[in-house]
Amino acid sequence: MKNTHILCHYSEIALKGRNRSFFEKKLIENIKKSLDKDSFSTVKLFGGIISFELTPAAKEKKIKESLSKVFGISGFSFAVKTNQDIKDIKKISLEAIKEKKGKTFKIHCSRSDKSFSLTSNKVNNIVGKYICDNTDKIVKLKKPSITCFIEIVKKEAYIYVKKEKGLGGLPVSCAGKVISLISGGIDSPVSSYLIMKRGASCIFVSFHSYPYTDEQSLKKIHNLVRMLTPYQNKSTLYMVPFANIQQEIATNTPSSLRIILYRRMMVRIAQEIAKQEHAQAIISGDSLSQVASQTLENISAIEQAADIPIFRPLIGMNKDEIISIAQRIKTFDISILPHQDCCTRFVPANPATKANLKDVLQAENNLNIKKLIKEALIGYEKIYF
Ligand code: ATP
Ligand code: MG
Repeated sequence: MKNTHILCHYSEIALKGRNRSFFEKKLIENIKKSLDKDSFSTVKLFGGIISFELTPAAKEKKIKESLSKVFGISGFSFAVKTNQDIKDIKKISLEAIKEKKGKTFKIHCSRSDKSFSLTSNKVNNIVGKYICDNTDKIVKLKKPSITCFIEIVKKEAYIYVKKEKGLGGLPVSCAGKVISLISGGIDSPVSSYLIMKRGASCIFVSFHSYPYTDEQSLKKIHNLVRMLTPYQNKSTLYMVPFANIQQEIATNTPSSLRIILYRRMMVRIAQEIAKQEHAQAIISGDSLSQVASQTLENISAIEQAADIPIFRPLIGMNKDEIISIAQRIKTFDISILPHQDCCTRFVPANPATKANLKDVLQAENNLNIKKLIKEALIGYEKIYF
């Protein structure tokens, strides 16, 4: 039996009060962008369900792949649409169940259209009996091999036997834009993913010391952004030259403060890009105490350089927890490839683990910060994915 529709369910959006329609619109917009234009036609919204009519060109495997990367969808199903005639509902349910392997089944009807004359329980009983009469399958309400879902919505009914899990979260861009600091490591792609999950779209910014670091390391950043892009449809990556800034810092300031001064410069430049892009926050992949630059003291010293919020979605996560997300979203295999991060240039032997803000500010007196920011903003390359 050929599926006629794809039904997308959402969960958290349903909790939204008067703003609900804003989130629904965003979700529909994002789903449309993720699908091939020629794969669907009519789009309808019922309470908690969005239905897309499939065209003959629709490829289920491709649609499944796309929808599994759309935040805001709690689950989705390929379904057959019919009218509200119980005879047709019985017939299609029978066909759908026959196509599935397994001896036990149950019918699960939800009726959001209360004008439909039969209650959900009544539909379950009528259709269940019809299946028993016409197959050798038996009803089992707890953990059956097959569940046949019947959604009774406005003047229509949808029938399906398989539910795919969605990512949940909120539709990307409903929360606005952020600047995500992305390096070639394991952490920053995961922190970008987590903030997208909560509805922010990411503009990526990466600092590099090319040609003092290799070209492969630049490519690696591109590949990480490419991997993250399906979650937000398209991406912009700023590749910002950092070698000159590092040189100035290494020549003019105490070596123990180097990493903190690098980070403060990164934050300042990211903030300027945020202004240009109308982004409202900076995202960083720090996890508390993971490395020297991520102690509470050093995080505060870095934070002080920014006027907009810096969010750190990984702050309370252990490395193994971060790795398991990286593996799931398939950034891990790219992240572990050899990489020359700009911060590996001029690495101090003894980086300060508890930087004192007074010392940091004093060290910065030896730098022409405005000039360095200006140069970086002239020198960046902007790449679209
Ligand atoms: P990651 O695995 O993300 O590289 P890390 O564990 O190596 O993180 P750090 O090198 O201390 O940690 O970096 C902390 C955060 O600072 C990164 O997650 C990233 O958000 C930002 N960052 C570090 N280096 C760069 C860079 N070259 N370009 C952009 N952001 C960077
Ligand atoms: Mg790093």
